[in-house]
Amino acid sequence: VVELGMPTRSVVTTCAYCGVGCSFKAELRGDELVRMVPYKNGGANEGHSCVKGRFAFGYASHPDRVLEPMVRDAITDPWRKVSWEEAIGFTARRLREIQAAHGQGSIGAITSSRTTNEEVYAVQKMVRAVFGNNNVDTCARVCHSPTGYGLKQTFGESAGTQDFRSVEKSDVILVIGANPTDGHPVFASRMKKRLRQGAKLIVVDPRRIDLVRSPHIEAQHHLQLAPGTNVAVINAFAHVVVTEGLVDRAFVSQRCEDFDTWEQFISAPEHSPEAVASVTGVDAEELRAAARLFATSGNAAIYYGLGVTEHSQGSTMVMGMANLAMATGNIGRRGVGVNPLRGQNNVQGSCDMGSFPHELPGYRHVSDDGARDVYQQLWGTPLLNEPGLRIPNMFDAAIDGSFRALFVQGEDIAQSDPNTQHVFAALSSLELLVVQDLFENETAKFAHVLLPGTSFLEKDGTFTNAERRINRVRPVMAPQTGKQEWQIICEIAQEMGYPMHYDSASQIMDEIALTTPTFMGVSFKKLDEVGSVQWPCNLEHPDGTPIMHEEEFTRGKGRFMETVYVPTTERSTRKYPLILTTGRILSQYNVGAQTRRTANVAWHPEDILELHPHDAEVRGIEDGSTVALSSRVGRTTLRARLSERMPVGVCYTTFHHPVTGANVITTDNSDWATNCPEYKVTAVQVDLVVEP
Ligand code: SF4
Repeated sequence: VVELGMPTRSVVTTCAYCGVGCSFKAELRGDELVRMVPYKNGGANEGHSCVKGRFAFGYASHPDRVLEPMVRDAITDPWRKVSWEEAIGFTARRLREIQAAHGQGSIGAITSSRTTNEEVYAVQKMVRAVFGNNNVDTCARVCHSPTGYGLKQTFGESAGTQDFRSVEKSDVILVIGANPTDGHPVFASRMKKRLRQGAKLIVVDPRRIDLVRSPHIEAQHHLQLAPGTNVAVINAFAHVVVTEGLVDRAFVSQRCEDFDTWEQFISAPEHSPEAVASVTGVDAEELRAAARLFATSGNAAIYYGLGVTEHSQGSTMVMGMANLAMATGNIGRRGVGVNPLRGQNNVQGSCDMGSFPHELPGYRHVSDDGARDVYQQLWGTPLLNEPGLRIPNMFDAAIDGSFRALFVQGEDIAQSDPNTQHVFAALSSLELLVVQDLFENETAKFAHVLLPGTSFLEKDGTFTNAERRINRVRPVMAPQTGKQEWQIICEIAQEMGYPMHYDSASQIMDEIALTTPTFMGVSFKKLDEVGSVQWPCNLEHPDGTPIMHEEEFTRGKGRFMETVYVPTTERSTRKYPLILTTGRILSQYNVGAQTRRTANVAWHPEDILELHPHDAEVRGIEDGSTVALSSRVGRTTLRARLSERMPVGVCYTTFHHPVTGANVITTDNSDWATNCPEYKVTAVQVDLVVEP
């Protein structure tokens, strides 16, 4: 068999990429990974996969991998390769020195949605129990933090309401600010299958994404709104429902509260489709028709992505969608719900694990004495009851000198966070930056310690996907670095004088289950027996919870919230007359650190600026021209593609390549409730670059 090049063994594990969380059989010949085969019993994918999960695993053995720890005193010094002992000792000593000189709150950490639940849990424990503060935040800050906030306010749980299978029972599907074909391909296939069976489709997006018209699918309505006007649109949907007598009165009276106040608010003429048409750019009659379709077609489901959350009113919009679902009775059964499509494989998990500065694992506020006491007793140390710093606060505090050291777990904040110039200023102000990553990424250029991370093929743990499904990540090979990432965290904690030790990742999950009510029934043993499980999984729901809020909402009654539309301050001007919005494409993943190191890069070797032919013509730009893209914060150059998918006045690019750096352009504007950056609205100018 070996001579024929056939695999000799296989390990079932979970994809390293998006929030669909597909299961794969990693097939090996000896210790060599031969191929990834989609696993037919995978709870999220049932045997399907996409080009990322199936083919883009070569980065794990790429020669760019950092396999030995490195340190340096100043970022202008060359790296010194050192032993693990020296790297951990250096890190712990510098962290303690900085705290002694500048105070307990002068250090903190950022966790990653690409690492396992157990690794994230270990980092937030290090921050709370060892650093003695709550300065821990997750990279979900810059993507789905408004989901956490908005769904908690309205439903009482910071998570999507449905399993993926639920879409098979939907009669009408409202897709807002998401491009599932590129971002979540395996779930998109499931959705398209339902659409081909006759479910109706409403797309709300400035760009004509593939879903609007694809083989055998044609959206009934594509509302091509002006970027930044989501809340005005969703309020207009709700206005039509309320004023045309389409409210599910029985559902609302039995299951919800604060409806009367909200009804009065949303009935006001200022929320009508006609009143907001000039702001949103959406034809009032078409919006009315879409709202009627949503409210009268049977099971209506909402699916959304970063086009909802990455706005100055991201949290308001999430609450607006929750209002619409409650008003029409579309919560608590198959085929309905409010469903965030998460970008990275463990966005849900990294939030669940307590890596927000105001929340302990399981979304319990740090001021909750009962919850804090559970950890104080178990960890044997007092915990602060005040929230710590969010990522943007850390950057600001670094620049003003009160925040001096940062540990970054598996996240390239120098490329992924907005306003690159501001991020660079913050990172270069730190006395100590510790980066734990597979590669010497853009952030590592500012680091004093580089701790090699493990790829998904080496990790042992769990990821939680967008439908709250906890999947096992099983090691296909031993860590090439010699250590699991959670072991490194424990060793830093020990060097800092705190006794943190686990024998295995399974033991960390046991601690998570012991302390987190929604995880009480979860263990590696159970996951190995049943494959995967969706939280809450506990005594009440021993088999997990595919559909949430069936009998009552987590908070008891669903709460209607007033969602006042406040226009973003980012507007087009004479100097910056176009609006830039950003996204991703099928073959690439986020900042591209992984996919750029695989053959997938050939499909998208550079970021491209899409703009409407009219906007191109008036600037003398042709397809393939090199253009300068500038905003009030920065400037970059890239090639142009003319596309009628874009409306006039709006352009679009991706952020997969560091050279073109879309985040050089994006600004510091952010969501009012969570500080999630407003990546989706930046006023820009595009100029032809005349090649010499
Ligand atoms: Fe991986 Fe997402 Fe593709 Fe599934 S859909 S294979 S989880 S990238």
